[in-house]
Amino acid sequence: MPSSSRKITLLGATGSIGRSTLDVISQHPDAYELYAATAHRSRESLLDICLRFAPARAVIGTESDAEWLRAKLHEAGRGDVDVDHGEAALLDVARAAEADTVMAAIIGAAGLLPTLAAVEAGKRVLLANKEALVMSGGLFMDAVSRHGATLLPIDSEHNAIYQCLPMQHRGGLSRHGVSRLLLTASGGPFREWSREALEAVTPDQACAHPNWSMGRKISVDSATLMNKGLELIEACWLFDAGPDQVEVVVHPQSIVHSMVGYVDGTVLAQMGNPDMRTPIAYGLAWPARVEAGVEPLDLFAVSRLDFEAPDEARFPCLRLAREAMTAGGTAPASLNAANEVAVQAFLDGKLSFLGIARLVQATLEATEVRAADSLDVVLCEDARARQLAERLLRQRSFQEGRA
Ligand code: NAD
Ligand code: MG
Repeated sequence: MPSSSRKITLLGATGSIGRSTLDVISQHPDAYELYAATAHRSRESLLDICLRFAPARAVIGTESDAEWLRAKLHEAGRGDVDVDHGEAALLDVARAAEADTVMAAIIGAAGLLPTLAAVEAGKRVLLANKEALVMSGGLFMDAVSRHGATLLPIDSEHNAIYQCLPMQHRGGLSRHGVSRLLLTASGGPFREWSREALEAVTPDQACAHPNWSMGRKISVDSATLMNKGLELIEACWLFDAGPDQVEVVVHPQSIVHSMVGYVDGTVLAQMGNPDMRTPIAYGLAWPARVEAGVEPLDLFAVSRLDFEAPDEARFPCLRLAREAMTAGGTAPASLNAANEVAVQAFLDGKLSFLGIARLVQATLEATEVRAADSLDVVLCEDARARQLAERLLRQRSFQEGRA
């Protein structure tokens, strides 16, 4: 346990990762203190968090929600919480000197700038938001080393790989005798479904993940295997690996969270019950360990572990992500942007499940790859891919599957 308490800024406090982080913090009130909590729209949840954890600061999306929150806190005798709103306030809490640790748990591209702000302030950054690395991996990792930030992966697979690598693994995997990274995937709820059956999948079916309880966007990504594609890109940047050094292994029980293969034939695996509180507690306490509230793994109850190859014909998103990483430059940012548009359209009932991969592919085919040498270029390509995906979506030929 750390000698003095860590002060934490929780970006995306009301989401699935945000709630799990608060759960771990609440188990160790002497070790961790919530300095700031942020949310986009969920003002009721942010109010509950402020009342329960008494952070110094809270940030919400709009001015009217901030006013509502201020009034409610005042009524409850907690008018001392400093409430602010909007993107500038988000960047400000991310870099605030009062906190030493930032949990980056905003969903999607919106998480990029606040996460980068925390990195540039040299914080310990607990990285759940994978999109920041997918969009701007090279720039992001440069900023981590330039500003002396400590980056700890929270995505369960990357956290597992991190745990299976030597403590100081910087400087190339091969220097440490690593031959490959084995990224496990549950295969999602439709692992055994035929292509015909996949055509009729509904949002609620896609969001019902068999092993993990997560937000809706990432649940859909898990069902299409785009989540694994984004994680492949994330792994390449985090661990300085080429796309050909990362192998995806479908493992339906989600007990092995990922593995590292070494040149002598050793494969190290990190195992546990599928519960995000384990990687979150790891990130908070690193390099020590604290209890996370997670049940011990009962291997007799699990009884068997299965592994199989992913089927990229039924789940083409994985291939699209690998191709984008191989193409390099702004291709992964365009892939991510097109996917965000496609998933939202699917959740809104405007696109079929298989249409998600088709829309991402069509967007990438019509997109030029540029060198991702500045944040402006990345954000410009992100916006361009979104517009293009929206335009394709409106085309009747696309909706009918002929595009
Ligand atoms: P979620 O949708 O449950 O929560 C997202 C949070 O971000 C909420 O607090 C929301 O208020 C905030 N937010 C949304 N849009 C925003 C915007 N435009 N500006 C500012 N804040 C905004 O998401 P989640 O499932 O907790 O995932 C968070 C991140 O962690 C994602 O990048 C996801 O890929 C990653 N992740 C999640 C899990 C999981 O188990 N949920 C596992 C691994 C990685
Ligand atoms: Mg994951």
